[in-house]
Amino acid sequence: MAVMLTIIPIPAFEDNYIWLLHDGRHAVAVDAGDAEPLLDYLDEHGLRLLAVLDTHHHQDHIAGNDDLLARFPALPIYGSRHIATVNRPVGGGDIVSFAELDLHLQVLDTPGHTADHLTYYGANSLFCGDALFTCGCGKLFEGTPAQAYASLQKFAVLADETQVCCAHEYTLENIRFARLVEPDNALLAEREIRDTQTRARNLPTLPATLALEKSTNPFLCCDDPSVAAAASRYAGHPLNSPVEVFAALRTWRNTF
Ligand code: ZN
Ligand code: FE
Repeated sequence: MAVMLTIIPIPAFEDNYIWLLHDGRHAVAVDAGDAEPLLDYLDEHGLRLLAVLDTHHHQDHIAGNDDLLARFPALPIYGSRHIATVNRPVGGGDIVSFAELDLHLQVLDTPGHTADHLTYYGANSLFCGDALFTCGCGKLFEGTPAQAYASLQKFAVLADETQVCCAHEYTLENIRFARLVEPDNALLAEREIRDTQTRARNLPTLPATLALEKSTNPFLCCDDPSVAAAASRYAGHPLNSPVEVFAALRTWRNTF
């Protein structure tokens, strides 16, 4: 019998989300930046935590691991081997499976935001941490534009109905920037109205479908002539490849 999986964002800190996948009995969490809201949810719903998956080493994504290990000493924590609290090191090409949830997640290497950033893909969902944001992408702290662009291309080939489950509520800010890049994108204008209403009700704008990202997220549209033209105008010279467009957009976004 197929397991009915619930996939929800648990708000943490100012604008982080801890993603939780559960079937009413067992749960897996992605990026436990803060243990408290996660433990509260698990207790409230009588869920047993099977494991934590880390996307990258920034504190707002892993700071809860120590508290979780204090409460569940045998808790498996998957992620980059460079994270001290990770006890199940994984990398691109691995598959992380949880029989209780009939859940199988592919691990993708997605450097750019950090050098060893990982993304987990499965259950029709993409747990992409700070690599891809709704209508935007993460800052390049450790990677090159070419690496980050290649990481986003790994997402672009996935099924349109894939649910993008990133780690921050940055959608409205990202849309404001995207509107500068593509003022004539009607889908983007519609998205702004819809997501503004969602945030006015204090609800998450996440997840979003990959189809929506591919049609409104400028960082996934670097080969689109109108996006390339806007990036060239910003850069003040012609840009000769999608990677150059990506790099110009990322620089522009940093100063926006
Ligand atoms: Zn980060
Ligand atoms: Fe973050």
